[in-house]
Amino acid sequence: MMKKYIMTPGPTPISEEVLQEHGRPLMHHRSPEFSEIFTEATQKLKKLMDTQNDVFILTSSGTGGMEAAVTNAFSPGDKVLVASTGNFGNRFKKLSKMFGLELTAIDYEWGQAVNPEHIKQALENDSSIKGVMFQFSETSTGVINNAKAIGDIVKDYEAITVVDAISGLGASDFKTDAWNMDMVIGGSQKGVSAPTGAAFISVSQKAWKLIEKSSMPRFYFNLLDAREAASRKPPQTPWTPAISIIVAINKAMDIMLEEGLGQSFRRHRLLAQAIQRAAEKLGLKLLVEDPQARGHSVTAIRVPEGIDGKKLSSMMRTKHGVTIAGGQGKLKGKIFRIGHLGWFGMFDAIIAISSLEMALKALGYDLEVGAGVAEAQKVFYENNYFGH
Ligand SMILES: *Cc1c(COP(=O)(O)O)cnc(C)c1O
Repeated sequence: MMKKYIMTPGPTPISEEVLQEHGRPLMHHRSPEFSEIFTEATQKLKKLMDTQNDVFILTSSGTGGMEAAVTNAFSPGDKVLVASTGNFGNRFKKLSKMFGLELTAIDYEWGQAVNPEHIKQALENDSSIKGVMFQFSETSTGVINNAKAIGDIVKDYEAITVVDAISGLGASDFKTDAWNMDMVIGGSQKGVSAPTGAAFISVSQKAWKLIEKSSMPRFYFNLLDAREAASRKPPQTPWTPAISIIVAINKAMDIMLEEGLGQSFRRHRLLAQAIQRAAEKLGLKLLVEDPQARGHSVTAIRVPEGIDGKKLSSMMRTKHGVTIAGGQGKLKGKIFRIGHLGWFGMFDAIIAISSLEMALKALGYDLEVGAGVAEAQKVFYENNYFGH
């Protein structure tokens, strides 16, 4: 059996401590023991999101959190603006259409970030827009969007911000309250590095006003029910929650908070830099050309001319046990993505680069084996980085 490395932007690697917690005997969700864990996990997620707003843990993947935001905040026919920077931006567009919202989309080239000025123009043109939706970290391209600048604009209008921060939380500094982020969505299997299957969502006062008025049909993801259940003593969930995943999240958040959020952001910055500098050293081209727009969770690299991207990732997986991600949507076959997110350290970055070099070499790409690895090592060494 081969040793395996998961190097995708979700799911991300899970520490042994978290896996052990996940494997604890199941407790009942109405028991005091679970209530305490549930309350703690929610508090820790509030720290991660840097918010005093209400936070709810939903039993679904991240997309369920996106759907919950759309179906709770808006009513059929409401006008919304989606600033789409890639595949996940398009998911907000699909959700909006599916639930009968009147959609205005601003579509960016994949690999480019949102220009906050465009949002200002759109809101100036139509002040009846109820929501502005975008990705903090656009996982399909590796772009990070300037959430603070967008929040600064939207706060002066009737609209709320609905932010998919699923792959950005934990990797990049994110301030829900200070940046006026009204609904923020996260997922268990990204920066938190817990098993797949839970989403979480924060709700501001401005968003509650819309939610209380929303006439959208919804049942499982009704946040009014979630709020009512959370207000009970002890706090509960409307339906049976993902007990084991919440137990795992509680532990994973201990690990992250023990490292320190600031240190976690620094680690992710350096991991991104190491992967990006190594790729460029090998003569590879990054999808995101503007260094300011490069996020810290995932790096998208163009498949070099003459190389079959599918063969590359399948060689890494079958020969080295290293799983990376391909391109999504229109970038399928054109890029590959290395996730460096969550329970991921500097030596994981070295493994990713090393495997990439050897696979590229085997496929006939001209490179000096070890050059990328050395470049990545330099990033950690020069920055005096000795963390995990
Ligand atoms: C992973 C991810 C999602 C949600 O995907 P699920 O498969 O539903 O968990 C949504 N948006 C972004 C930016 C993501 O990275």
